[in-house]
Amino acid sequence: MIATKAYAALSPISGLAPFEFERRDLRPDDVQVEILYCGVCHSDLHQARDEWGDSIYPMVPGHEIVGKVTAVGTSVTRFRAGDTVGVGVIIDSCNSCKNCKAEYEQYCLDGPTGTYNAMERDGITISQGGYSSQIVVKEKFVLKVADTLDLKAVAPLLCAGITTYSPLRYAKVGPGMKVGVIGLGGLGHMGVKFAVSFGAEVTVLSTSPHKEADAKKLGAAKFLLTKDKAQMKAHDNYFDVLLDTVSASHNYSSYLHLLGLEGKLMVVGLPAEQPKVSPFSLITNRRSIIGSMIGSMKETQEMLDYCAENNIVSDVELIPIQIINEAYERMLKGDVKYRFVIDLKTL
Ligand code: NAP
Ligand code: ZN
Repeated sequence: MIATKAYAALSPISGLAPFEFERRDLRPDDVQVEILYCGVCHSDLHQARDEWGDSIYPMVPGHEIVGKVTAVGTSVTRFRAGDTVGVGVIIDSCNSCKNCKAEYEQYCLDGPTGTYNAMERDGITISQGGYSSQIVVKEKFVLKVADTLDLKAVAPLLCAGITTYSPLRYAKVGPGMKVGVIGLGGLGHMGVKFAVSFGAEVTVLSTSPHKEADAKKLGAAKFLLTKDKAQMKAHDNYFDVLLDTVSASHNYSSYLHLLGLEGKLMVVGLPAEQPKVSPFSLITNRRSIIGSMIGSMKETQEMLDYCAENNIVSDVELIPIQIINEAYERMLKGDVKYRFVIDLKTL
């Protein structure tokens, strides 16, 4: 077994504190990774505090992992020691259901195995995430990362990046389309970067007036303050696609009127509360609401390669792991530009 240092939540109210545990010895198809950087996703906070009601403790969060391969199992062919790699939100799936066979591991019908807070497929081990010194992951769920990019700013691509890239691709976002990104946080700012890079006209819809300048710097053509009823009304039937990245309770109906004919509300934000939807706001313009969960391994690699070619990374604030609890509080206040990333050297 491999001794591993980490930070873990011990209960929904404990906050995170130093924690030690053991990773498994390498199986033939395993890759061992020394973690350099791990992004801090709002999902980490939701789960550390048991906001989704399925938390298992002790919990080491973290699913935006970038590191260096330190060892590989005997049957591994795609990686060797020294390679720069990434690990995202899932580390396994059943590999035999219809969706897995179609290479949609994230939609595994048996449930994909989360990088943390999940029962692994051995039926014994609880997975533990990237707020730790190292991780052991099946080769299939390890991604290649180009060394040409700033690695601390690559880490958030493994969740915030793919979670926004995938629905924008699914909605075929491109030139001539009007895209609104709701919520300018970790996911939202990546959504803006991708939609701009795909050639769309992008608007940020935000509750925070002070984010307007940043939205424009990220490439948004417009900024809509969602609390301003007149500004919202002026954009009735305006958008082709809205990407909802909101982490807190809100109603879909307050955004649906902004969609034009066959407009799509792509939902990725996961507040615990059930949102309200009026069927009238759906039948008008034949609008739809479509959910999207991260992306497949294939699409995640495609996204990482796209980012390397187009020089796209996340805007990050690097933090020592010792201030992770403070970082969670700041994330709740929207006080982060636009993703915290933990420097695991500080562990
Ligand atoms: P984040 O950085 O905290 O950003 C969330 C943003 O939502 C905030 O910056 C804020 O933007 C907006 N917001 C907050 N409270 C709001 C409210 N009451 N009404 C309207 N807007 C509000 O969080 P994140 O890491 O981007 O994650 C966003 C959500 O996506 C989380 O729920 C997370 O669990 C989920 N998620 C889903 C997937 C998936 O596969 N579908 C993957 C990863 C994360 P403004 O200040 O601009 O309003
Ligand atoms: Zn995430």
